[in-house]
Amino acid sequence: MSHSPVTPTNVQYELQLADPAAHLFQVTLTLFVPDPQGQMLRMPAWIPGSYMIRDFARHVIDLQAKDEQGSALSVTKSDKSTWLVAPCRGPLVITYAVYAWDLSVRAAHFDQFHAYFNGTSVFVEAVGQGNEPCTLMLANASHRDATGWTVATSLTAVQVDEAGFGRYQAESYDDLIDHPVEIGELTRVSFTAGDVPHEIVLSGRHYADMARLSRDLQRICEYQINFFGAPAPMSRYLFLVWVVGDGYGGLEHRSSTSLICSRGDLPVAGMDTVSEGYRMFLGLCSHEYFHTWNVKRIKPAVFLPYQLANESHTELLWAFEGITSYYDDLFLLRCGLIDTSSYLELIGKTFTRIARNPGRFRQSVAESSFDAWTRFYKQDENAPNAIVSYYTKGSLLALGLDVLLRVHSQGTYSLDHLMRELWQDYGQRQRGVQDDTIQSLLAQRVPVAVDALTDYFNTVLYGREDYDFAALLARVGIGMHWRSRESAADSGGSAGKPGARVSLWLGASWTGDAAGIRLTTVLHNSPAHAAGLSAGDVIIALDGLRLDKDSLEKWLAMQSPDQCVRVHAFRADRLLETEIRLQSAPADTCYLTIDDPTQLTNWLPTTGE
Ligand code: ZN
Repeated sequence: MSHSPVTPTNVQYELQLADPAAHLFQVTLTLFVPDPQGQMLRMPAWIPGSYMIRDFARHVIDLQAKDEQGSALSVTKSDKSTWLVAPCRGPLVITYAVYAWDLSVRAAHFDQFHAYFNGTSVFVEAVGQGNEPCTLMLANASHRDATGWTVATSLTAVQVDEAGFGRYQAESYDDLIDHPVEIGELTRVSFTAGDVPHEIVLSGRHYADMARLSRDLQRICEYQINFFGAPAPMSRYLFLVWVVGDGYGGLEHRSSTSLICSRGDLPVAGMDTVSEGYRMFLGLCSHEYFHTWNVKRIKPAVFLPYQLANESHTELLWAFEGITSYYDDLFLLRCGLIDTSSYLELIGKTFTRIARNPGRFRQSVAESSFDAWTRFYKQDENAPNAIVSYYTKGSLLALGLDVLLRVHSQGTYSLDHLMRELWQDYGQRQRGVQDDTIQSLLAQRVPVAVDALTDYFNTVLYGREDYDFAALLARVGIGMHWRSRESAADSGGSAGKPGARVSLWLGASWTGDAAGIRLTTVLHNSPAHAAGLSAGDVIIALDGLRLDKDSLEKWLAMQSPDQCVRVHAFRADRLLETEIRLQSAPADTCYLTIDDPTQLTNWLPTTGE
């Protein structure tokens, strides 16, 4: 039992696990002092951290309002996310159902196996009262599947039972919607890092070694708290992990993170190596934890406060997602969970991903960030030709910036120093970061590097051409090498097999079905493009032979470059006959080598060599 003093609040929410089969929550909002002019209610259109309009109001069903006598009040909709209730004296009672059937960490999901929600999906805001404290009553699950269910959330408990059902409180609406809640049969393990209690909570079927998870995450958390400087900005922290057959993703919050991972990526008892899947999971945990500082507290000025009714454009996602993506894996190396060669393999893969998409010549990282809402978050078949990822290229931007700062300052200033300054001068003081804040800070701190930094930002952040990373990395003893891919599955990072045959390349990606080989993307200036093929086309024969997605690779391995081959394909129901000139795969596959270990220590710790 947890029992803190109850502060009476004017804004009280109650959530009931009403109907798991219909995926419906029932929500009641009681306002003791409603707006005398008529109370306006509003649902967010997006959830912070995921920059896409999702219009959560579309899942609100049957919203009704009653006055103190229990008489119905008229409710009118004034736009897609806003309701206006007729004036009344308090208490005003609002009721509605929410349909929760989104299998992601960004919304809400409820069935016989568990209940999960973000406040942005379930709680209407009482406009004008958003800054007031509020309470949430989580009603005990009564349906038959809910035996043994417990609650996990970083919301502050006021009076809850042993399973965690009962009353919670939040400082404001903004606080209320930043603590996702998971309810179900949960596996839990606790640890302390930087004097802060942490908990890992797994939901879904799994076989995870909880002791190992706890040990490894503790190292990451301790490291990051020390990195920014104790004390940590949160009084507790929760990793909410949703284990599924095949999934990956996460969303950051001020005192928690919600993650989805694949069952096979978690470590099992007796395993003491770091598998590729587990490395990815640890990187995800490290990424979301870093956001506790970088984006949840150090924020773009336009997010102070969040404007959740419409898109909130910023060029700065390179700093909030790119820098975070740089540090996530780097911290695994620095706290000894992976070794230097494993880390360099990851960086080689990242360079490969960028080099393979011509979209980097069409969109800058700053543009990618600004247009995240309609481009990065709404990718279609043309995305590889038209956009660049502010995560992927943003992480390389951060890497290059770190190396550049270290080289020009003779090791006296690095990206680490910048992050600590941003934390102390912006995060802790709740000052928003402007578009040019980082550039002007760096110009003051490392004046000898001003010209190099200007050129760097103009090329890598605002420009669309390739930067000479090989020359930069050579200055810290790293060799950058390019080769052709050996197969469609070759994602780079390693030198490849000596003597392996260069794979032939169509410049397209595909899936297969009974109809044939369905092209999913066609890269500009590739053999498939030159042949007039398009995403969506279904290839039924190559060189007069019927092939499927498995036999295509084997067939390609038997061909030689520069020969022209007949292609038969369907575009919708029209047969398309053309020729494709096969080409050797371009040298777009990167791997890194340590050429001078004495220089490398100016950037990376060397381990496991
Ligand atoms: Zn992120």
